[in-house]
Amino acid sequence: MTKTQIILNQLEKMKQSRIQAQLTADNNLALARQNSKFKKLESDMRKIQVEISKLAPNDEKVKELYFEYNKLRDASTEALKKIGLTYKDTVPQYNCPICCDVGFVNGKKCECLIKKVQEELLNQSGISKYSGHSFDDVDINILAKNPTLDKAYKIAKAYIKDFPNYKYKNLVFCGEVGTGKTFLMECIASELIKTTNYVVFVTSFDLNNTVIRSMSVPFVERDEVLEPLLECDLLLIDDLGSEPIMKNVSINNLFTIINERQRHDKCTIIGTNLTPQMIKERYGDRLVSRIFDLNTTLPIKLDGKDLRIQR
Ligand SMILES: [Zn+2]
Repeated sequence: MTKTQIILNQLEKMKQSRIQAQLTADNNLALARQNSKFKKLESDMRKIQVEISKLAPNDEKVKELYFEYNKLRDASTEALKKIGLTYKDTVPQYNCPICCDVGFVNGKKCECLIKKVQEELLNQSGISKYSGHSFDDVDINILAKNPTLDKAYKIAKAYIKDFPNYKYKNLVFCGEVGTGKTFLMECIASELIKTTNYVVFVTSFDLNNTVIRSMSVPFVERDEVLEPLLECDLLLIDDLGSEPIMKNVSINNLFTIINERQRHDKCTIIGTNLTPQMIKERYGDRLVSRIFDLNTTLPIKLDGKDLRIQR
């Protein structure tokens, strides 16, 4: 699902619950009004409200009227109680008291909508399969001991700050196992999901399987399968080189995705244990020239001891 679809879906859900809340309140009020005592009290209260609205707030009579109003209100609460209702039952109970389940306040997205969209983006990002690290988990002591990681960390921060307009659309983290590639990629993903970007996090193994699956589904469903990989704001491909190479199929799959994204100016981040030379040997010149197109891509080499051992 694209971000727009997620927002539209969420707005539709909110609309349904808003209608439901209004319907429940209307039904309860209709039930209460069948009680003649409640109906009379309600009408008397309305008359007092009208009187109050005609007076200046500091008019002495206002206090008197409020006193009268509260007396009637207590009586109507009693009347409601007799038919098994409370005042709360007669007004719509929205999930969000700020926007009343409309999703917008003064033309801006309400916090409740933003939160729901973030949750959905997180769910479908694939990052839940990982430990989902964020920058809060960064250990300053480890950065101080490891200049390449420190530099990569600063680049990651800048990439997020300027996203999606950082001077390089794409990053490639190269380095051996445990040098912090996946960690940094998770941090970038988590941070960008927070600002409701459409992020997809896959291993190169998953990516390959997804493309293979797209070939076996009916043609009309193909776009749906590939859409997250092609349409997301940021695609993170971890562990490039871990997938089995099958008769060039894997290479073509990877090429298609990366090429399409670059053609549409979409951001992609790759993490790999392979060196550029090994990538070239494994995938050939055509793919390597795409992955390491230095006009659009910043390769970042990570080295140092295995951080997982250091901790
Ligand atoms: Zn709200």
